[in-house]
Amino acid sequence: MKHLINPELLEKLSDRDKKHLWHPLTQHKIHSEMLAISRAKGAVLYDDNGKEYIDGISSWYTAMYGHCHPYILEKVGAQMQQLDQVVFSGFTHEPAVKLSEELIKVLPDNQEKLFFSDNGSTATEIGIKMALQYHFNKGEKRNVLLAFEEGFHGDTFGAMSVSGLSVYNGPFADFFIEVERIPVPTEENIETILNHLQIQLKQNNIAGFIYEPLVQGAAAMKMHNAEGLDRILSLLKEHHVLTIADEVMTGFGKTGKYFASDYMEAKPDIICLSKALTAGLVPMGLTTCTENVYNAFYSDELAKGLFHGHTYTANPLACAAALAALELLKTDEIQDNIQNIIQWHKEFDDGIKNHPKISSTRQLGVIYALDLNVKMERYGNLRDRLFKHFMDNGVFLRPLGNTIYILAPFITTKKQMDCIYDNIKSAIEMV
Ligand SMILES: *Cc1c(COP(=O)(O)O)cnc(C)c1O
Repeated sequence: MKHLINPELLEKLSDRDKKHLWHPLTQHKIHSEMLAISRAKGAVLYDDNGKEYIDGISSWYTAMYGHCHPYILEKVGAQMQQLDQVVFSGFTHEPAVKLSEELIKVLPDNQEKLFFSDNGSTATEIGIKMALQYHFNKGEKRNVLLAFEEGFHGDTFGAMSVSGLSVYNGPFADFFIEVERIPVPTEENIETILNHLQIQLKQNNIAGFIYEPLVQGAAAMKMHNAEGLDRILSLLKEHHVLTIADEVMTGFGKTGKYFASDYMEAKPDIICLSKALTAGLVPMGLTTCTENVYNAFYSDELAKGLFHGHTYTANPLACAAALAALELLKTDEIQDNIQNIIQWHKEFDDGIKNHPKISSTRQLGVIYALDLNVKMERYGNLRDRLFKHFMDNGVFLRPLGNTIYILAPFITTKKQMDCIYDNIKSAIEMV
């Protein structure tokens, strides 16, 4: 048969993209064209010219076990042959039940119930709704949420309301939930924060406190003090404020422990998960909570239930991916390489932290960040030059303002990590 050439294949993918696609977080009038990625394997992305890029941010902290991991593909493939999707209201299935059993074993001890959704924003949105309805069901009027300055919790309305990085949220600000903000704790400000909270708490109007424990991802991997956070959480718990740990970014081994919450004595009432939950294969969100939270909804009264539900709740394929990912996380191979990466970061940091062009560095687990000693816009010109420098040299890093951070997959090799480090060093010389 004569081979016909499809005219669409002659046109560049990035040009075809422009015709009908609207990308997230993008001002299309300013943004140059999108890079076409055709495949991914392990820690590497390949563009449609075959050029390789080390995925230094695990495609937004999702593909922590590497892209297209054979074990995860196998498990999801098998699940696909068995059960693809079923309504999760009135029905249940093995992958969801099994995932609940396995996750409960690794989550902080006080977590007992799992509520599924589709992404990180829905996971936090549900956490917020749980906190508000918890008090409503108990007949208490608490309509304010507490959050950290510069927090990020997602792009749906509740999540936007509690997010402090609101530079792009202007058009919606009039429609937000009422939120009180506190700075992240440092050794210097903790007493002031606690004193301020003592006064605020007298009003009895705070339903919940949502926070990214220890690392604020979108705020450019800003890190704060575990002891201070612990004291804030303890105080809030004394006043029956529900604590909502947004571990969408920090969850599943990135901080060196299974969850960032494992660093604190005071355990959250509610935990939000997504991103690495399904290892980058399919989207899923999860909001977990204590028996106490669940019991406030458990009633003979229908209306006291949590009437929230998404069509793809507990999708069996996503549950299978999450189960396989959790199995991998627990293996010696992954745990050992997490320790290796932690060590490599330390050595890199020792060699670079005193550089005159660096104002500060920080690390928790496999998360590493450094701030350049220059003034930069969050998405400004210099930032774009840094990004281009990395991409030209085959490293996908996404600087935020003057912060360069690494959050590479757990399976990244020493050679790949050295390539990332070398490119950061040459980038620093460039600025
Ligand atoms: C990414 C992120 C979210 C939002 O998740 P989406 O899946 O993008 O909706 C919420 N909270 C934190 C801490 C995140 O990093």
